[in-house]
Amino acid sequence: MRAIQAREAGDPDVLELVDLPDPDPGPGEVRVEVAFAGVNFIDTYRRAGVYPMTYPHVVGSEGAGRVVALGDGVTSLAVGDRVAWSDAPGSYASAVLVRAERALPVPDDVDDAAAAALPLQGLTAHYLATSTAPVLPGDDVLVHAGAGGVGLLLTQLAVARGGRVLSTVSTAEKEELARAAGADVVIRYDQLADLDAELPALVREATGGAGVAAVFDGVGRTTFDASLASLRRRGTLVLFGGSSGQVPPVDLQRLNAAGSVYVTRPTLGDYTATPEELHERAAELFDAVAAGTLDVRIGARFPLADAAAAHAALESRGTTGKLVLEV
Ligand code: NDP
Repeated sequence: MRAIQAREAGDPDVLELVDLPDPDPGPGEVRVEVAFAGVNFIDTYRRAGVYPMTYPHVVGSEGAGRVVALGDGVTSLAVGDRVAWSDAPGSYASAVLVRAERALPVPDDVDDAAAAALPLQGLTAHYLATSTAPVLPGDDVLVHAGAGGVGLLLTQLAVARGGRVLSTVSTAEKEELARAAGADVVIRYDQLADLDAELPALVREATGGAGVAAVFDGVGRTTFDASLASLRRRGTLVLFGGSSGQVPPVDLQRLNAAGSVYVTRPTLGDYTATPEELHERAAELFDAVAAGTLDVRIGARFPLADAAAAHAALESRGTTGKLVLEV
């Protein structure tokens, strides 16, 4: 198989295209011929050594394709089935092993690129909006990086639940995309001279002085303080990532001063730990895409061999929606 390996921890140029033997499915696994692999921020953290990994490793964990071989005991899938997944290590490759119980069936009217784009960011948006800080009708919520992969999906899901979304973005094009996804108020946080003071002030102005019920913050280091100061009394700060860098340790007394607020740092694995929960969330997402009520924006497609360029683009802050690798 062709695969993209991270040679060592480092910049995108540690990624190289290699030939490796096709993996044999073990019990409970299937081998999938990958059509598209999804590119995610976590792939860049793992490549760069932000999260501990062994090297070399084949990068990626998400994709979509067709089942080509079954391991012992697999009865839920057949050769030829179209599946997608969020958690199969080594997905930047022409073949990957997926645990059968974690393989998500893809409806006929969802194409391979959209199927590969949805699982990781879609499941994340889903658990954030429905479980971590469930958005209730009438709630004001703030979504940072509202034109990003998670941001566009989360905005649509929050609006579908009756919430009103305030969003931050860094360009005029991103502002348009966030609005098209349903954001009611879009703040150009790149233009604020003093983000920590000005962003909470703009949020309060837009919410009658109250602040928001929840902030969904995947940007992290640069936004955390402003997020905390944008919450309404007893609101929830959901810190789910660090595209600008990780947040340093926080004095818990600040939660008291901010209005008895909650802070949580969730991760997808804990919200899809059982196959039942995983499949329930995924079925809702795929049904919504198939019904045309959830739009998956593919911001850019790269050939598998150009994975390094895809990583550089994602880290450059210049992308919108989802990046996929065409295998
Ligand atoms: P995005 O498509 O949202 O890309 C990241 C965005 O962050 C950029 O487009 C940019 O938007 C914004 N950003 C702000 N500052 C920076 C910076 N210094 N460098 C780069 N980007 C910056 O990525 P994803 O949708 O893939 O992921 C969003 C976040 O969600 C990531 O932090 C990721 O780790 C996290 N995540 C967490 C999961 C979990 O379960 N906890 C699961 C999946 C993702 P703008 O230009 O508008 O500022």
